[in-house]
Amino acid sequence: MQHLSHKQIIERKLGTALSATNTSHCPCREWHTSPSRATDCQWYFEDSKPHCHCLHSSCSDALSEYISRLYSELNRIRRSTLRPEDLASSYHSPRPIKHAPTSPEPFNAELAERIAAGYPHNISYDDLRACSPISIPSDPQAQALKFFSHSYGSTDNILIFTNPLSQGDYIWRGLNQQLYQLAPQPNKKASPISSLPMSAANGMYYLISPVTGRWRSRENAKPSRRCGTCATRYPYALIESDCLPAATWLRILAQLEDRIQAIYLSGSKSIHALISVLPDTLDNFATVKYSLAHRLRPVGADHKALSAIRLSRLPGAYRESTGQRQELLWLNAPSNQGTLKHALAKIHPQPQHEAP
Ligand SMILES: [Zn+2]
Repeated sequence: MQHLSHKQIIERKLGTALSATNTSHCPCREWHTSPSRATDCQWYFEDSKPHCHCLHSSCSDALSEYISRLYSELNRIRRSTLRPEDLASSYHSPRPIKHAPTSPEPFNAELAERIAAGYPHNISYDDLRACSPISIPSDPQAQALKFFSHSYGSTDNILIFTNPLSQGDYIWRGLNQQLYQLAPQPNKKASPISSLPMSAANGMYYLISPVTGRWRSRENAKPSRRCGTCATRYPYALIESDCLPAATWLRILAQLEDRIQAIYLSGSKSIHALISVLPDTLDNFATVKYSLAHRLRPVGADHKALSAIRLSRLPGAYRESTGQRQELLWLNAPSNQGTLKHALAKIHPQPQHEAP
């Protein structure tokens, strides 16, 4: 059989030759939010697998998926279960897009207040606890464990951080619902632990997407166990607001039709909400992200927090720098598809309309 180099395979897949310096157009350029050029992507072939880097960041999720598909195709070619000549026909845009990618509208404080006023009650933290589908324990450690066990499944591994720049200090394994302390470098065993410290200088974090728990080697970078290719699924998107008062943000959350999995405090001034992504694929994550950014950025959400590989505040942990706890306020039951508004209806009677 004809033997093709990685470079030749990629040229077939892209349907065009690479430049003399191994650049090409980006295969995920539909996701660019600024003009694309024919040389946006730089390809590297020094490693056992080809790598590419695009100058745009808006395509990063799509490009990660494209590369993982490419790797599986290269494996199939190596095992002779895919003919290189079938590659060109297997190329397709990673995601059909329904709208041309555009940047979300900027924050509009007046609009946020107007939308928030559409929910006719103030929502206190006690209100959230009172209507939480899963009861909220007061013990910090119990908050974190209950959050994990109701938000993730038996195949999930969740990285936990006391240092957000680390590769993860602890891991929660859904298989046995056990916590482990992780070694800071590869090839060292994790040790089971009975509890998390639940306090750190700048609070504690977890990675919202489950990971394999294994290290990945990377070109021109140290090995990682928290990079995009470590994620196994994408069940949640994180929304928070740094610019709205808590009362306004909660009244906006109360009107979302999206399923919210959990609401907790950042240990400073913002409130984090995890929005469910169903199905939990990277494709669908991009669609949900696009929709949330465009709907909620104008009313105060931080659209930059909407990434698949995202650290969020660990519920229950104490943030020493602010002297505040990252309190878990509301936790959805896995089987419950209802909205926050639906849960709040238990304690906030809806206005009675007079019969015509
Ligand atoms: Zn790109």
